[in-house]
Amino acid sequence: MPGFGLGTWLGIKKETPGDVKKNEIENAVQWAIDAGYKHIDTASIYDTEDQVGKAINKKVAEGAVKREDLFVTTKLWNDAHARDAVVPTLRKSLEKLNLDYVDLYLIHWPIAQFSNGTFYDADYLETWKGMIEAKKLGLAKSIGVSNFNQQMLERLISKSSVKPAVLQVEINLNLQQPALREYCRQRNIVVTGYTPFGSIFPNKARSDAPPPRVDDPTLVQIANKYNKTVPQIVLRYLVELNVIPIPKTVTKSRVEQNIDIFDFQLTHEENDLFKSYDKNYRTIAPKAWMDSPYYPFEKN
Ligand code: NDP
Repeated sequence: MPGFGLGTWLGIKKETPGDVKKNEIENAVQWAIDAGYKHIDTASIYDTEDQVGKAINKKVAEGAVKREDLFVTTKLWNDAHARDAVVPTLRKSLEKLNLDYVDLYLIHWPIAQFSNGTFYDADYLETWKGMIEAKKLGLAKSIGVSNFNQQMLERLISKSSVKPAVLQVEINLNLQQPALREYCRQRNIVVTGYTPFGSIFPNKARSDAPPPRVDDPTLVQIANKYNKTVPQIVLRYLVELNVIPIPKTVTKSRVEQNIDIFDFQLTHEENDLFKSYDKNYRTIAPKAWMDSPYYPFEKN
């Protein structure tokens, strides 16, 4: 699995029609492939699968890349957790992507919800059986989970014949998840880190978010030393933790900048400094879902 990817979630959609540009992800994915990205992360709920697919098919048709050299991930939304819903839902995603298979299919959340938001009782163990069927059919080369905690992973592994290949969870400076990463390392489960920038950008950070921000003088100094930017040294740190970061950007220069982190290495002291920013602070914690029996995070 390529150790670096492009995220394609445009955030909670704004109410005004036209705010979401029809081709911003399509452009970003094309720039990414040109810049050497091999790994693209999407999900049915992002509503970007069609743009991701258009970009990939264009680049494959141009001869810029072969489909088999790309790694495409999509995810099953909470409203399709019944075992029998999984394969037809993946087929719909593949139709939008205009691809024959995805490289990785993830259960997006352990939580089952109707499309109106109310919860229903579908155990993710049943959902997983549908995921295994999708893999057997060759519609997904690998299957995994996202936003599962350690107990959920443990339960899934002990009650199922197929282990998840990947766990995708939030990982950034303020939420480094050392115990969960170690659990996955011991079981050969690859860890993908979403929202890799966490709260470093002031315009994205909530008022209670711990430091650092992107203009932190010590971080700026370290970045300058390597002739890199602060976002780049943050991504480099995650790679050194054996996490696969999937930063999202729709800005060409940032698409190119973010992947340009494989020609330097942080020192032990710098690693220790980065480690000290871990405050177990979650950027993505959907509090409205706390009443689900499968809410995966701490409830305080
Ligand atoms: P990120 O941490 O990737 O941050 C994205 C923001 O950072 C955008 O505003 C982007 O701006 C900005 N940015 C990117 N690169 C730079 C840079 N070099 N300098 C300055 N600003 C920069 O957040 P996401 O929450 O999008 O997470 C990444 C991906 O992870 C998602 O897109 C999605 O694919 C996945 N994800 C998965 C979840 C799950 O439940 N499994 C949950 C959340 C995310 P701009 O685009 O304007 O350039």
